[in-house]
Amino acid sequence: MQDRVGSGRHQYGGRSIGPRPVLRSLLRGATQRCPSCGHGAMFRRYLKVNNACPHCGEELHHHRADDAPPYFTIVIVGHVIVGLVLAVEMAYRPPLWVHAALWLPLTLILTLLVLPVVKGALVALQWALVMHGFDPEAKEEIGDGLPEIPSPLPRRLDFRS
Ligand SMILES: [Zn+2]
Repeated sequence: MQDRVGSGRHQYGGRSIGPRPVLRSLLRGATQRCPSCGHGAMFRRYLKVNNACPHCGEELHHHRADDAPPYFTIVIVGHVIVGLVLAVEMAYRPPLWVHAALWLPLTLILTLLVLPVVKGALVALQWALVMHGFDPEAKEEIGDGLPEIPSPLPRRLDFRS
């Protein structure tokens, strides 16, 4: 089943087979849009990735972001907050309660803002690099996507002989 979508790209079973520029995909993902068409929403809720793009139908459920988004978010937010803490301490030497009142809520807000940006970019990067099930020529995943391990037992026990 091959059908044509708006941008001239062809799709085969919900996976585009056109070019996948990494930088463009990263920017689209960081703005939480579909890396393929740039129009559809990547998330259906705060951090829940749409199974498929609502605009072009590109399958997005193949992503394996796992704990990479929180990891990169901690790195980014940590560098920003620690830099600000040191700068404010050096410039004003405020009492500790001012530090606590400033940085605890700011850390929480910044984390909640950065997390979907990072997750969108990582899902788009996986799509652009044709990782996991994003390969249009890959077979459909069955079950959890892990390779089937052959059983040492015979498929069917025959007790008649
Ligand atoms: Zn799309």
